[in-house]
Amino acid sequence: MEPPVLPPWEQFRAARPAEKARWLRTPTGRPYHVLFAQQFDRPFLDRLCETATRTRRIAKTKGGRMFLQSLLPDQRAMLYFAQPSTRTFLSFYTACQIVGLRPAEVRDTHTSSEFKGESPEDSVRTFSSYVDLIIMRHPEQGFAERIAWLLSTTERSVPVINAGSGKDEHPTQALLDVYTLQRSFARRGGIEGKTVVFVGDLLRGRTVRSLAQVLVLYPGVRLIFCAPAPLQIADDILEVLRTAGVPHETTEDFEYAVAAADAVYMTRLQDEWDVAGESRQIPTERFRFEERHLQLLRPDGIVMHPLPRRHEIAVEVDRDPRAMYWRQVRNGMWIRVALILTMFGREGEIHQYYEELVR
Ligand code: ASP
Repeated sequence: MEPPVLPPWEQFRAARPAEKARWLRTPTGRPYHVLFAQQFDRPFLDRLCETATRTRRIAKTKGGRMFLQSLLPDQRAMLYFAQPSTRTFLSFYTACQIVGLRPAEVRDTHTSSEFKGESPEDSVRTFSSYVDLIIMRHPEQGFAERIAWLLSTTERSVPVINAGSGKDEHPTQALLDVYTLQRSFARRGGIEGKTVVFVGDLLRGRTVRSLAQVLVLYPGVRLIFCAPAPLQIADDILEVLRTAGVPHETTEDFEYAVAAADAVYMTRLQDEWDVAGESRQIPTERFRFEERHLQLLRPDGIVMHPLPRRHEIAVEVDRDPRAMYWRQVRNGMWIRVALILTMFGREGEIHQYYEELVR
């Protein structure tokens, strides 16, 4: 995979997302680094979702699974997760295994040389000597971007996937959320024209920030941000929506928002970012999806959640066919398989295999 040439750090850091996105592609136009949601465009998303759907169809037979395994057995990945993770880690790990790519992991920096005082930058640079892909989660905003740039200045640049950075971005969650929305609304004309309601800690929830920025690519989408005032969505996201001409509103009226929604996207309180437990003082009970709210939701509406859940969705809701969060978990694995194959330039073989399968 030929790496793109990145400009000096200050120029790269200060560039507008559209400009940065160009630098993250290979000379042939495929994504080299996956760092932030605004780097995706519609053709990429449409093709990726199609690749994911065809891959899972192929995986239904033993022969298909063997074929998938044969795609990347000569490649290795490092999963460097310096923040807690269940689904993102496991789905990436499994996605690597599905395509034969061998994963290694560092999840607890107490067991690596970071404990001896090595900088995370030096750790990641070390990983790049051993592997062909780095998938990383880090508490620091912009860290993945800095690493991608840093590696591009070395003689061994390897692609970086941001698997969640600080409070700002979770681009691959946005991919699985778009995939879930697209599948859920396939018989209703797709994501176009739908109303998506975000609920919870919108200020510090990176999944909401990433997904909102991707949804601007779907004409007619309307976004409603429903949260207590201190946790309401930040101005930078509202600015992105204003610039893109996406209709949106903020509200504290949960019932109104649920009734207006095609999709309700619930999130938990992100209190790991509190300095002194301050967000626990914010009353959030009004923003809880209970069984009675199912009456308010359209019969063809859906409820999503990036998980983990605390009490913001009552477990009784899980039984309703409109509850999509467990499907999101599974979609996450397949969209990550599709992403890895696309980055390594192997997704064409998926489409070829599929065409032969259905011929
Ligand atoms: N798992 C998601 C994330 O890593 C959502 C959450 O933690 O609330 O951002």
